[in-house]
Amino acid sequence: MSQYWSAVVHGLTPYVPGEQPKLPDLVKLNTNENPYGPSPKALQAIAAETSDHLRLYPDPNGDSLKLAVAAHYGVTTQQVFVGNGSDEVLAHVFLALLKHDEPILFPDITYSFYPVYCGLYGVEYREVPLDADFAINPDDYHGPNGGVIFPNPNAPTGRLLPLDAVAAIARHNPDRVVVVDEAYIDFGGDSAIRLIDQHPNLLVTQTLSKSRSLAGLRVGFAVGHPDLIDALERVKNSFNSYPLDRLALAGATAAMNDNAHFEHTRQAVIATRERLNAGLAQLGFAVLPSAANFVFARHPQHDAAQLAAALRERAIIVRHFKHPRIDQFLRITVGTEQQTDVLLAALAEILAV
Ligand code: PMP
Repeated sequence: MSQYWSAVVHGLTPYVPGEQPKLPDLVKLNTNENPYGPSPKALQAIAAETSDHLRLYPDPNGDSLKLAVAAHYGVTTQQVFVGNGSDEVLAHVFLALLKHDEPILFPDITYSFYPVYCGLYGVEYREVPLDADFAINPDDYHGPNGGVIFPNPNAPTGRLLPLDAVAAIARHNPDRVVVVDEAYIDFGGDSAIRLIDQHPNLLVTQTLSKSRSLAGLRVGFAVGHPDLIDALERVKNSFNSYPLDRLALAGATAAMNDNAHFEHTRQAVIATRERLNAGLAQLGFAVLPSAANFVFARHPQHDAAQLAAALRERAIIVRHFKHPRIDQFLRITVGTEQQTDVLLAALAEILAV
């Protein structure tokens, strides 16, 4: 049937997200979901909307969520764009802001979705090697390019780039957009949103999938200069004039407004991450410093693919990548305290064999 496809489809390699197996009693530490539930206020808001309200179209501007994001970060609603997960926000970013004649730049080890969007939209790219210690070097992001994009903290390494280095990358590229994908920023970094007034070329994307525990609702947003937001709105409106359905809008708005739940759960994840780091180190793993809700770890004496397979036999799923530079690492999502105990006990058993 592929004779019916357009040339664009032939050129595409689909992005394969982490698997979602449906087994009971699984310790699922492979896709960086939050182990704690969403804000009860978000659940109430969704329940209230699961009513006669669904007869009506949602707000075409997503204003309630824009207001909540603007209030959280001290920006205006003209500086906020909302969409169905940061993946969709990023799709619009690639088309609206990164498609130029020169290749865009991103790290060689990074979120594997970026090349997929480049393929979809015909955006050329150049991968910039990370330093030996997996850090992004801001001085490498120079010269003619179509724009820059990188996650901060980076994925799957978890390494954080300090804000002065983010600002340096924005300064190096005044005529292009520099996109900071902050999917994991709430677990240990300062958001670059505070830099956008000095750097009108800086666009920050975030998600409610991780620190707000709403991966299933599919909500993300971008914050930047109103001109960048305007470009995103134009592209979005050409696809679908309703940014979010009524349930997503109601739940996401309530979640953004519930600071107490947000603080409580993210501090719990951070505390468990530190315990997980210590436990892994005790078992002989080398663990990269992580500012995310996952850790990236390597055991000098044990093959990572075999470790992942042995964990899987014990119904514990972690992420292993086949990229040659990182194929000796495991990316492990920070779970509950109890899941962490189960994981560390299983690893101790496997390593002793
Ligand atoms: N950026 C990065 C770096 C990610 O790891 C993810 C999650 N896979 C996303 C963006 C997308 O998150 P979502 O679409 O759930 O908002």
